[in-house]
Order: sequence, then structure tokens, then C-alpha cells
Amino acid sequence: MSTNETLVHVVVQTPAHSGVAGALTYTHDTALPPGTLVRVPLGAREVLGIVWDANDAAVPDGTALRAVRGVLAGLQPLDAGWRRLAAFAARYYQRGLGEVALAALPPLLRDLTPEQLARRLRRKPPPATLAVDAFAPTPIALSAEQASAACQIDAQSSPALLFGSTGSGKTEVYLRSVQSALADRPEAQALVLVPEINLTPQLEARFRERFAPLWGDAAIVSLHSGMTPPQRLKSWLAGHQGSARIVLGTRMAIFASLPRLALIVVDEEHDASYKQQEGARYSARDLALWRARDAGAKVILGSATPSLESWHASDPAVGRYLRVAMPSRIGAAELPRLRLVDMAQQPRQTVFAPPLLAAITERIERGEQCLVLLNRRGYAPVLHCHACGWKSDCLHCSAAQVFHKTDGTLRCHHCGAAQRVPRACPACGNPDIVPVGRGTEQLQEQLAALLRNIITPERRAARVARIDADTTRARGALEAQLAQVHAGEIDVLVGTQMVAKGHDFRRITLVAAVQPDSALFSSDFRAPERLFALLTQAAGRAGRDGHYMRAHQAVPELWVQTWHPGHPLFAALARHDYPAFAAQQLAEREAAAMPPFSHQALLRADARTQEAAQAFLRAAADAARAASLPGCEHVHLYPPVPLAVQRVANVERAQMLLESSSRGALQRLLAAWQPLLHAERCRHKGLVRWLVDVDPQAI
Ligand code: ADP
Ligand code: ZN
Ligand code: ZN
Repeated sequence: MSTNETLVHVVVQTPAHSGVAGALTYTHDTALPPGTLVRVPLGAREVLGIVWDANDAAVPDGTALRAVRGVLAGLQPLDAGWRRLAAFAARYYQRGLGEVALAALPPLLRDLTPEQLARRLRRKPPPATLAVDAFAPTPIALSAEQASAACQIDAQSSPALLFGSTGSGKTEVYLRSVQSALADRPEAQALVLVPEINLTPQLEARFRERFAPLWGDAAIVSLHSGMTPPQRLKSWLAGHQGSARIVLGTRMAIFASLPRLALIVVDEEHDASYKQQEGARYSARDLALWRARDAGAKVILGSATPSLESWHASDPAVGRYLRVAMPSRIGAAELPRLRLVDMAQQPRQTVFAPPLLAAITERIERGEQCLVLLNRRGYAPVLHCHACGWKSDCLHCSAAQVFHKTDGTLRCHHCGAAQRVPRACPACGNPDIVPVGRGTEQLQEQLAALLRNIITPERRAARVARIDADTTRARGALEAQLAQVHAGEIDVLVGTQMVAKGHDFRRITLVAAVQPDSALFSSDFRAPERLFALLTQAAGRAGRDGHYMRAHQAVPELWVQTWHPGHPLFAALARHDYPAFAAQQLAEREAAAMPPFSHQALLRADARTQEAAQAFLRAAADAARAASLPGCEHVHLYPPVPLAVQRVANVERAQMLLESSSRGALQRLLAAWQPLLHAERCRHKGLVRWLVDVDPQAI
């Protein structure tokens, strides 16, 4: 190393569990500030790296240091706040810093040479369309509840939980909060998170309409995985450089570089899709709270059915969040009435109970729309041969392959294996193999048949459409389908939970959940919470337009077909009484010392055999106890168990639950455990991988 060279510490994307947790040391002819993006050699490759603060770096071990190959000049270094966020996420979720930090950058940035990036940066964004004579549309007058909510949120610095019924106008409150956060400070930025990509277009339209006249079209950008790599890079750069003042996105957007962050909104904060389920398993909602506090920004969580964690934190007796309620719907619209159908009283094999079918028919004849919810796509979950007992089991997974009639395939929803539907039973040749159970395809087919003679007021036959992951694979397909619904070309929409969330439908007056029972008796303690949220959200799509409802003298309804009409969940649902439901669930959780009254993590092992997976977990637990790791005495380690779907793609999966009343103790144990787990891994030949899931959403 010559005298004018300095050491720089760089984090790079290292393979998971490579054991390289911190930064690597390189040389450069000048000092580089932390946060600078650089290209560095790593083995035989050249990769993107981020210059990091010195204290996290590995001490050089005397081997010849390699030089930084290039600096991505023209880009401001990632600021200290962003670096703290990445470091916290890596630490808390037990992943490598390089893995988390580099995965948080837009993928295209990893592949660009400094020259290519410089060319992109030279492409100036179109000048802001900020004409002096542009009028901002006069914002609509807030309802009394909205005004009070906006005012309370403004006055407080603690996180706010906006507990607003479906259709209470939460989005308008977000718009006001964004406006007040950004109006006085010309550089301030806001981040707005939504759970699903398919909710971004409608939201983006509303934000654009409101703020483009004020701050220009370029001030609003989206960031989600449905965008092309160049689009993502462009949005990311706009946030990083400050030209974007509002970033709308899905969970990944929590890692956007926003140097002037003043506000984070997490819409539908209860939604499970805020939890990343691969790689670093982070919760974007939880990181939003951490990031906002660290940045001195405000944070608003919004939901009609908050997660029990957030609900508990906003209990006035706990007082960590400010709870702000908006119980009424906009325009004096009513919340849907619950109609329970007792399936025990229906003819055998009923798919649509006669009264439900009659109600749907009546709505169509009056020109109203219906939504039918079934959380299972495909035609039937399994094919069966009654002659020999054959089932369409996946060869690679402990699950059945789902029958998709539309394209004539059997498809495994776990490993993706697909094949043509056999003409006859592969085991005994019986040509009469039958679908068992039903999915959205079958529901659409049956409903279309049942309604084939029904005529709408426009004197055309009733139309039944389906929206699920299968019908929306193509880019733009979902938007096109939703546009048809909004235009009134569809009378009944059959769909999975995808259509239950967030959409502002105007003419749907009836929502039906035809088969929600399985969630009532699931072994997952969060299943009732999720079912209550799903049914409330689904019901929330009905009767949103008070004017329309009054003009049509229509009453919104939620129909639920169930074998357990006496279940207490339905009683609370009928009263729209989330607080009562939450109180009952929280009492159960407290009695059983479950979250939010305790903290959990999972250690998962995937292996060639179930024995090998469990052996690794047992050895890991033994090692933790033998070393009496810090925190160990306060953490309960449960015995290893197979996952519900035990085998996927020929890999056996097992997990071990860790539980503690102290988050700190659990964190200390997990951190101290890492080196032992790395060491243990080498002793278990059949092991494919292991991972830690902190605050798991599914047990
Ligand atoms: P939520 O997200 O709470 O379910 P939205 O924010 O989608 O509800 O609002 C429901 C509907 O009410 C939307 O069509 C919205 O444009 C309309 N809306 C919201 N606030 C007002 C208001 N103050 N006056 C008139 N309409 C409003
Ligand atoms: Zn057979
Ligand atoms: Zn499979």
C-alpha cells in the first residue's frame, strides 16, 4: 500500500450465511465518505458496494488489500439515516449487513458501470410542469371525523393508528397529512406504503390529482416490484436526489433512500403482505415505525381492522401509539349487514344457498354489482379417483396439485410443478376421475350457469368475471379488469382476497364469502384475526357510495355461508365491533402469553429428510443451552416440528419456535446463536439450509 492510499470499508452482497457479516476492507487513493457507492472486486467478480462506517469493518488480516475499481460519482452518498436503517434491519432480522443493504437498492444499480450510471444521471428529468397559473383542485371538504382525525394526528408526534371503518375516507386523511408535512418545508418527503401492487394505480391517481398541480408531476413516484428495472431505478433516484417528494410503494419501498423523510403512511397496516417471506424476513410496517422514530418523522398506520399488535400498542393504557377513530362512512353510507347462512340447514352439496342466489339475482336485476369471495384459486384443489383412491398429489411436495380447468393443467401451488390433466386415472386407468372441492374457476363457471337467464336493466345477460392471481398475470390485466367493473360491464365479480382489499368500488352492494370456515379452526393462532380482517375488508367493498345506495334504495349486505353460525367471531362481525373482537382475542393471547404479550422467532431447517431437519434444530437448541448464551434463560425453546406443508420441492421442512416475554433477551440469544448455527451447519450433511424468522406471521 503506497502512502497516499487510504483504507475504505465496503459492504457487498455476500451469499446468505457466508459468515461475512460486516464490511470488507479495500484501498482507494482518496478517502471516501460513508454511503458512497463503489465498484469493487470480490473474488473473480466485480460488484457494487457501499462504503460503510469504519467501526463495522472486518480487521484486515494482512493479506494484500485490493483497490476500489470505480466510484459511482454524481450520486450523493446514502445518508447516515439510510445506513442506520439497513444496519438495524440486518441486526434485528439476523441477516448479513451486505445482504440487506445491497438488496435494498434497485437491482439495475447493481449492474451499471459508473459510466452507464453517469449517462443516466445526465438525462435530465422533464422540467417540473409547475405553471404559476396552475390551480390545485379545491380539496373536498373533510367530514367532521376526518377533520378531527387530521387535527389530532397533526398535533401529536407519537405514531398514530388511524382506526377508520371501510369507506370512512382514510385516504383523504393521508392526503391532508402529506400536504401538511410537505407544504411548509420545500424539501420534505413522504413515503406511503400499500400492501398490494394492484392498489398502487388507484392511489397514485389520487395523489397525482391532488399534488401534481402543486409540486409538479415528477414529485410523485411509485416503487414496487411490478415495475421494470429502469422504472424502478428512475423512481429510486428521484427519491434519493430529492426530486420526488412523495413515494408510493409496496413493502420494498420502506428501504427507499429519502434524505428528507418527514412522514410515513402505512395503509392497511394489518396486512400480512407487509412481511417479506423470503431472504431477510423483515416487516415493512415495523421498520416504518423504527425508521420514522429514527428520522424524527411522523408515522400513520391506518386500518379498519388493525393488527392486534398495533391495537394493543394504541390502547390508552399502553399509550405507545395515538389511537384515532373514524367509525362512520363518508356520505352517511351504511356498513353492510351480515346475513349468515347456516349450511347445516341447506340441501346437501349446496354451493350457493338458495337465499343467497336469490339475493344475488335480485341485485343484478336492479343493476347492482356483487362480489363473491373464495380464497382458493384454480378449479378444484384436488382430483380424485373413486375406483382406486388415487389423488393428484404432487410428486415433490406433501400437497395436492390443483386442477386448473381453463388451461387443462394440474399445478402445484408450492413448487410450481405442472402437467397436463390426465385423461384417466394414472394408477388404475379409470376414465372417471373427479374434482373434489372448489376454487374460483369452478365458482365462476357454476355461477355463470346459475345466472344464465338473468337479465340486467340494460337488457343484457348477466356477466360473471373472475379476478385472481391466474387472471392477472399479464401486465395491465388487473387494471383492465377493474376498469370493466368500474364501468359497470361486470355484474358479479368472483375473486380471491386480492379483490377484497382497498378497492373503491362504487356500485357493489352485496359481498358473499361462500366458504370461509376452515380459518375458524386453523392451528395458527392468528387465523381468527385474519378471517375477521378479511371479511371486514371484503364487506367494506359493498355500499361505499351513500348517494348511489340511497338513490337505489339499496342496503349493503355481507353474506357468509358457514357451518358454525354461532361462532363468536360472526357475532362481533355482525355488530362491526372490531374493538370487542380484539378485546376477546387479546384476552386469550394474554392468558396464553402469546404475541403481543410475548415475542417470537422461528428457527427453520430444510433438509433431505425430516429427521435431518429436526436433528439440526435439536443440536442447535442443545448448543445454545450448553453455551448458556445470553438471554437463554428468558427464552423458551419449543421442540422441533414439521411445517404444515412438510415437504416442498423434495425438501423436508421443520421449525422450532422460540418465545420470550423479553424482546431484548430474544434478540441477544439470536445474535449470540449465529456463530453456533454456522458451526452446527457443517456437522449436518443432509441439511439444505437454515434460516431465522423474527416476529413470524405464520406459525
Ligand atoms: P377508506 O380507505 O377509509 O376505505 P376511502 O379513502 O377510499 O375510504 O374513501 C371512500 C370514498 O369516499 C372515496 O370514494 C373518497 O373519494 C370519498 N371521500 C373521502 N372523503 C370524502 C369527503 N370528505 N367528502 C366526499 N367524499 C369523500
Ligand atoms: Zn384410479
Ligand atoms: Zn409441488
